[in-house]
Amino acid sequence: MFLLRLEEETLRTYKALYEFTPNQLAVLTLDDLDELPDLCGQGYRILVPCAVELLENPSLLSGRIEGLNMTVEDPLSLLIEEAALLCRGKVKPSTIEVKKVLPCVADPSKVRFIAQVDVNVESLLPVLYLHLKRSNYIEALDVLTFTTDREELVSIYGSGKICAGKVKPERVEGFLSDLLNLLVKAFNYLSLHGPPPESLLEVRRKLNPNMVYQHLPKLNCGKCGEKTCLAFAVKLFLGECELENCTPLGEEKYRENREFLQKLLKPIL
Ligand code: SF4
Repeated sequence: MFLLRLEEETLRTYKALYEFTPNQLAVLTLDDLDELPDLCGQGYRILVPCAVELLENPSLLSGRIEGLNMTVEDPLSLLIEEAALLCRGKVKPSTIEVKKVLPCVADPSKVRFIAQVDVNVESLLPVLYLHLKRSNYIEALDVLTFTTDREELVSIYGSGKICAGKVKPERVEGFLSDLLNLLVKAFNYLSLHGPPPESLLEVRRKLNPNMVYQHLPKLNCGKCGEKTCLAFAVKLFLGECELENCTPLGEEKYRENREFLQKLLKPIL
C-alpha cells in the first residue's frame, strides 16, 4: 500500500507508475478508501493520492488499516516510506529530442549530435553501467559513457543530456529509438528492483581482463575458440564473446567462479 500527496510532480510520478503496473496497482482517492480492504484482499498494491487533509489526520487512514488486521504503530510514516521507495524510479523517459547535429570530427561520413531526454535520468545511470559492457560511469560528474556494438560513442548525463558521436546520418532515428528503449528498460528495472547495491558497482569498477582471467579455469584448452584463457578473458571483458563459450566453466567445480563472472558480465536488464 502506498500513499502519495496529489501534487503536480507526484501526479506525474503516480501516472507513470500506474502505467507501469496497470494490473497490479489500484489508484484510490479519499472518496473511495472504503474499497481498500477488498482490493488488498485481491492482491492489489494500493496507491492513495491524498490531500493534505489526510496527511494531517492519519487516523482517517489508520482506521482502514486496522480493518485489514495490520498492526502498524505509525501507519502514516510507513506508507510515506513505502511511497518514497516506490518513487525511486522517478518518471519514465518518453522522448529524446535532438538539439544540434554536427559533422563527426573523427569520421566526416558520420555525425555527432546533442539531444535531450524529457526527464532526469540520474537514477538510471548505475543500472545502465552494470548492463552495458563497454561503459564507464563517473558518479562525481554524473555521466555514463559507452560504446555501442556499431562503435557509436555515447555520453548520457544525469540531467538527460545526450552527446553522441560516430553515428551514421541515416542511423540517427534508429539510434534514438534504441537509446530510448534502453532507458525505459533501465527505468522498469529500477522500479522493480531498486538501485543496484553499491557492492556490485564497486566490483564492476574494479573489473579488468586480469580479474576475468583469474576466474577462468586456466586450462588453455582452446574450446572457446581462443588459444589461451587470457585471450578469452580480454574478449569477454570487451564484450566480444560470451561466457558460455568456455564450456569447462560449466563444470560443478567451477560453479563459484562461474556465478561470480555471470553476475559481473551478464546484463542485468
Ligand atoms: S575454453 Fe575456457 S578453459 Fe579453455 S581456453 Fe577457453 S577460457 Fe580457457
